[in-house]
Amino acid sequence: MIDLRSDTVTKPTDNMRKMAYSAEVGDDVYGEDPTVNLLEDTAAEMLGKEKALFVTSGTQGNQIAALTHCKPGEEVILEANSHIYLFEGAAISALSGVQPRPLQGTRGAMNTEDVRNAIRADDIHFPETSLICLENTHNLAGGAILPLENMQEIYQIAQENQVAVHLDGARLFNASAASGISIKEYAKNVDTVQFCLSKGLGAPVGSIIAGTEEFIAKARKWRKRLGGGMRQAGIIAAPGLVALKENADRLVEDHKNAQTLAEGIANISGLKLENTVETNIVLANVQETGYTSDEFLDALQKQGVLASRFGTHTIRFVTHLDITKEAIEQAVAVMTRVARVQ
Ligand SMILES: *Cc1c(COP(=O)(O)O)cnc(C)c1O
Repeated sequence: MIDLRSDTVTKPTDNMRKMAYSAEVGDDVYGEDPTVNLLEDTAAEMLGKEKALFVTSGTQGNQIAALTHCKPGEEVILEANSHIYLFEGAAISALSGVQPRPLQGTRGAMNTEDVRNAIRADDIHFPETSLICLENTHNLAGGAILPLENMQEIYQIAQENQVAVHLDGARLFNASAASGISIKEYAKNVDTVQFCLSKGLGAPVGSIIAGTEEFIAKARKWRKRLGGGMRQAGIIAAPGLVALKENADRLVEDHKNAQTLAEGIANISGLKLENTVETNIVLANVQETGYTSDEFLDALQKQGVLASRFGTHTIRFVTHLDITKEAIEQAVAVMTRVARVQ
């Protein structure tokens, strides 16, 4: 199977398995797991933040950030197609008790004047705006890179209004690999950041959140409350360290493969490329083949290619560590056959 459903489907590399086997461990709830501590220190250093925390998933990281930044009854500004708004089970309302204020962006980027206008004035009728969430790269916008200037301007507006900014950087390393802008530079323009070890970086499990020492101390307590206090977690932190050391620089290969895939799709009659491919996500519209996404996906699966449904006629492909150039060529050949049959 050529599995292009997501970059979360990668299997741990041999070195990840070896490092997990030999990891030094302790009870991380006591702060005594040396491998977890090393992972957190390494991530904090890479991001240029005071402290970092190893959490179970990207969703948990984003929700811990919201819980730490906000109080019930406050309002959070986020992009209308963001992961936090659409794909986290309304956890931001269910857990933090805040009201989301979605703003429609362009390729995932909110207009800075819209953000300024959405920040609530001091009025008895209004909730207080406590947080702005950004997403880089933007998943639903097809892996679009949030421009650094957009982040800088929003951070400036937020600081003028004493509002915190959190970055959902599930795929921040993809943004950095493609733009050449360091993750430190991106992280400088937000108060807190979450990134996934388990996506393009290829680790089996986990995410990192980072911010000030004070923020992380509070976040650690929220993680425990949510049942995310893990014990000898060095076993899963060790592959995360391998992911940071060995897999950040190779993301450009995934981006090259995504470009090849996009060019292949653009040349198949009946298929339309839906996004400008900047990183590892390719969106294709299958409407002109006469298939719905579900029918097209079924036909692909029968010939050994997996992708995911993104809309009635839109399917998503994500390139990753376990996808070679040859696999991409094969996937294009399969799609050409499937599109021709209808
Ligand atoms: C995948 C993803 C998340 C959530 O990560 P999980 O580890 O799956 O919980 C959050 N934000 C974005 C943009 C994502 O793509």
